[in-house]
Amino acid sequence: MEHVRKRVEQLRSELHYHNYRYYVLDDPVITDQEYDALMRELMELEELYPELIVPDSPTQRVGHAPADQFATVRHAQPMLSLSNAFDEDEVSAFVDRVRRQAGQDLEFVCELKIDGLAVSLDYENGVFVRGTTRGDGQEGEDISANLRTVRSIPLRLNEPVTLNVRGEVYMPRADFERLNAEREAAGESLFANPRNAAAGSLRQLDPKVTASRNLDGFFYALVMNGGPNTHYEALQYLRELGLKTNPHIKLCRSLDEIQAFIEHWTSRRSELPYEIDGIVIKVNDLAVQNELGTTARSPRWAIAYKFPAEQVITKVVAIEVQVGRTGTLTPLAHLEPVQVAGSTVSRATLHNADIVAQRDVRVGDYVVVQKAGDVIPEIVRSLPERRTGVEVPFEMPTECPACGAPVVRVPGEAATRCVNQACPAQRTEGLIHFASRGAMDIEGLGPAVIEQLLNAGLVKTPADLYRLTKEQLLELERFGDKSASNLLEAIDASKGRPLSRLIFALGIRHVGAEVARELAQHFGSIHKLAEAGIDELTAVPAVGEKIAQSVVEYFSNPANQRLIQELGELGVSLEDVPAKTGQNAALDGLTFVVTGKLERFSREEIQERLRDLGANVTSSVSRKTDYLVAGEKAGSKLERAQSLGIPVLSEEDLLDFLRDRGVEID
Ligand code: NAD
Repeated sequence: MEHVRKRVEQLRSELHYHNYRYYVLDDPVITDQEYDALMRELMELEELYPELIVPDSPTQRVGHAPADQFATVRHAQPMLSLSNAFDEDEVSAFVDRVRRQAGQDLEFVCELKIDGLAVSLDYENGVFVRGTTRGDGQEGEDISANLRTVRSIPLRLNEPVTLNVRGEVYMPRADFERLNAEREAAGESLFANPRNAAAGSLRQLDPKVTASRNLDGFFYALVMNGGPNTHYEALQYLRELGLKTNPHIKLCRSLDEIQAFIEHWTSRRSELPYEIDGIVIKVNDLAVQNELGTTARSPRWAIAYKFPAEQVITKVVAIEVQVGRTGTLTPLAHLEPVQVAGSTVSRATLHNADIVAQRDVRVGDYVVVQKAGDVIPEIVRSLPERRTGVEVPFEMPTECPACGAPVVRVPGEAATRCVNQACPAQRTEGLIHFASRGAMDIEGLGPAVIEQLLNAGLVKTPADLYRLTKEQLLELERFGDKSASNLLEAIDASKGRPLSRLIFALGIRHVGAEVARELAQHFGSIHKLAEAGIDELTAVPAVGEKIAQSVVEYFSNPANQRLIQELGELGVSLEDVPAKTGQNAALDGLTFVVTGKLERFSREEIQERLRDLGANVTSSVSRKTDYLVAGEKAGSKLERAQSLGIPVLSEEDLLDFLRDRGVEID
């Protein structure tokens, strides 16, 4: 018993400290998942030993007492938290429980759980008079001056009503990224996530700072005399009053419908321009809500299903330095394996020496690792509070780890590079890139096979690939008659790839797929490109001084000149042969997404035409999308494209865009 009592006290004091870091300083030192685990443990112990419960236990109250710098306001009705469900069984148990307690079948409203800061707004006769934070649930901080700067909070409602409204103020993801980038550049501390950034921005003494932060809000509850009978109607009413409500809500009559909503948003949350950390499920009938009542911390008529974490904490066991195809040295952290967003992560990129220094990541450190959507896992920050003194700071090597040649760092650039042309690591990475899907697209020629070919001394440069024979391949492990023929066929097929792909495949520094496409279009052949001077190169719209310099440097290197000559002799096409219609590769290398209702074409028709022209057409918008074609009623894809700054084309714009490239479709 003594042991349990000690543990309970320890958990309370830890949770108290973390509440302070999170709610008062807006600077948490553990992830939400770790916090939730501590809270769960405390709740379970208190359930087993109710005699240990004290009124000020973190399980019995919400948040943290208001900070001194703001005036304190007492809430007319407490602002509560929500109880959590971490899997579908817990959601199902909730639905069963409330149905049983209410003694009837019930309707539920499912909503997105916006990851922001809870606020309460008071309107008198339709006029905004006060806005507060949740604080400890009973008393909050008066942040009226700051809330007035949030554009989605109307200062006057559409009706002269007196009521109290609750909702969430948040910072859109794009604004969060911009803010942190600015802070990083200014050497200021970074916000851990958009929630903390929103909280930090709202709890400012100077409203001008809040105004500069582009906060937004969604409102989801109202407290008033009379008013609607159901939560669903209350949301419609809020909208009629001029308050912004979230469009993604669903009235559900069965557990299946609730689970479908959860599944839908679990896989699509990254498409939203703001963060959500779960789904809130609420009993729809307000009279039943009243009957079910609340605990000290949360209502009994609602539950928050929490998504699996996208940020977790783990330990750095080593930092390895990898050499890329252009000789760039990239520090890569090896981690104690952890589950993040549904997959196991054991390595994360640290980008370059500056980032390692800024994020102060040492071998042996505990770090926050993030993985969202299809992005490469990265280390967001280290946790210096957890250091024991044995951690080892990282230093970029002065010699290339692959070939031992001295490395250089060009002033003004973040990258440290190995400039030895014969560096084996660059050679391997260069070949992997040459054969990759976006480049020469040689099926079956991945990193493992390339490693094999290099080890057997069969290839050194990309030209050697075109000299491979079946006999040579059959000598290699795991190669049979069929696989050898397939590989040779795939290599042969790559000889006729469009010029843009070849230019990209050469791996010229700073020349990505898009620049390669523009260069191919402008020059039409490798020879013309190789002869071009700086002025001629910078005349191409996508090409600046840096790229032009790099292209000239590449083609003045005798080893590269030899490579081009050999590729030509071996039958690789060095110029764009006009295709049958002259149009086949007009959109080569570009990725499109089509959404909404178009007028002249169906979505499928447009997608097919774009594919015919060599474009890659995908169904969801990501950073890799080049253009979004949006018709009428375009929804979340349009929002996402706008938040990522991806150009949006109407149907007419698309036709003009194609005309500019010499293509007419009708
Ligand atoms: P919560 O964030 O889990 O849920 C309650 C809140 O959800 C409400 O108060 C409301 O603000 C918000 N919400 C968003 N959308 C909503 C909607 N559609 N309907 C109703 N409410 C909605 O609970 P909490 O009490 O605000 O915070 C506890 C959580 O905060 C913990 O579970 C943890 O994840 C995190 N936390 C982390 C630390 C840390 O150190 N990392 C410390 C304290 C709290």
